[in-house]
Amino acid sequence: MSDFPEIFLDKVGKPLEQSISLQDYSNFKIGGRADYFFEATSTSELANSMSIAREQAIPYYIIGGGYNLLFDDDGFRGLIIKNRVEGIKQRQKRVEIEVFSGTPLSDVLQFSMEEGLTGFEFLAGIPGTIGGAVHGNAGAFGHSIGEFLKEAEILDERCQRIKVKRDYFGFEYRYSLLKEKQSVFLAAMFVLQEGEREKMKALIRDNLEKRKEKHPPLDVPCAGSFFKNPIFPDGKRVPAAYLLDKVGVKKLAVGGAAVYSGQANFIINKGDASARDVLQLAEELKQRVKKGYGIDLEEEVIFLPASPPLP
Ligand SMILES: Cc1cc2nc3c(=O)[nH]c(=O)nc-3n(C[C@H](O)[C@H](O)[C@H](O)COP(=O)(O)OP(=O)(O)OC[C@H]3O[C@@H](n4cnc5c(N)ncnc54)[C@H](O)[C@@H]3O)c2cc1C
Repeated sequence: MSDFPEIFLDKVGKPLEQSISLQDYSNFKIGGRADYFFEATSTSELANSMSIAREQAIPYYIIGGGYNLLFDDDGFRGLIIKNRVEGIKQRQKRVEIEVFSGTPLSDVLQFSMEEGLTGFEFLAGIPGTIGGAVHGNAGAFGHSIGEFLKEAEILDERCQRIKVKRDYFGFEYRYSLLKEKQSVFLAAMFVLQEGEREKMKALIRDNLEKRKEKHPPLDVPCAGSFFKNPIFPDGKRVPAAYLLDKVGVKKLAVGGAAVYSGQANFIINKGDASARDVLQLAEELKQRVKKGYGIDLEEEVIFLPASPPLP
């Protein structure tokens, strides 16, 4: 028997949970059990839990809201750390706000609205935490979170807390360097602009309306757009949904996984889908687009295998 739980309790001061169903921690509502599970509510809990897992050679993985994740049917052989380190502070300059990584995007938007700070209206309707958003440079309607980030605090691969500037993240379309490094984003300072509340409210309403037309309601189990929008040889980015629609995938399903009728780039769980169903359906979609357009679609949704290789 592993003595990891005792060592963890000793070093972090809070117990681990064991054999936790991951279904409850992914919006896809899919996933087996994780060996160990811990909810970190402070930066030191986050840092300590990671460094103990590293010391003990226990694989670990940090999650935010689970809105961009597909867990394995076999769960996770290691420690899942759910980030609940939340909080928003205004800095001396009114337009600068500091946000902890586990803060829900909806809270960040609400805060900026109340303070009359404009910029984050594109976040309306994007579920998840600021940590998940920075990891994948979440965006919509021509904006993405990386544009607003000035500096941040991260835990690097050796679990050291360091301050970094925006350049560190190398933000691109749905990409930040966090995708390649084992570093964890702790908090960041974002720079917004003074705005007019009525204009901001109108833009938010507008964005939510546009989403309603194409996106499934938030209570439909899925993880957002399944594929990134690919770049065509002429350099133009084309919506993956358009290509998928053209190759006629809207009625496709595998087991409990189906293409959402309102938008072909969403794979939804009709109730009893397994991760295997979702991955098989995704493969079928990729093959159809490859056949029809010679384009390789790349997944935006992140699949976490039960036993990923140790870093
Ligand atoms: C209905 C719906 C609509 C969506 N619309 C959009 C949209 O318009 N635009 C868009 O970009 N996305 C969209 N998404 C996807 C999702 O909301 C975003 O990707 C969001 O940023 C995920 O945040 P999360 O906290 O849920 O991350 P999670 O799903 O929990 O994690 C995603 C990844 O981020 C990593 N991560 C999380 N926190 C940290 C951290 N602190 N440090 C380092 N890595 C971390 C995780 O390890 C994981 O690899 C949508 C999803 C749904 C379900």
